[in-house]
Amino acid sequence: MEEYWWCPRCECVFLKKEWNIEGKMGKFGMCPNLCSTSGRKAVHWPIIAKRYGYPPEPVSGESYPVDKLF
Ligand SMILES: [Zn+2]
Repeated sequence: MEEYWWCPRCECVFLKKEWNIEGKMGKFGMCPNLCSTSGRKAVHWPIIAKRYGYPPEPVSGESYPVDKLF
């Protein structure tokens, strides 16, 4: 299964490799939505999916809002 990272600012999920914008933003990358969030702050999808009842395989680029983060 692909690895997905969820952005705590824009609440969208992207493939981990999509965070690595052109390989220019360092090891963690930046949110592909360009919301100025470092991949360092991204939450691994299985944590969000389990906590908020989202599917194990999300749609990359979709918004998955949460009421309150943890
Ligand atoms: Zn974002």
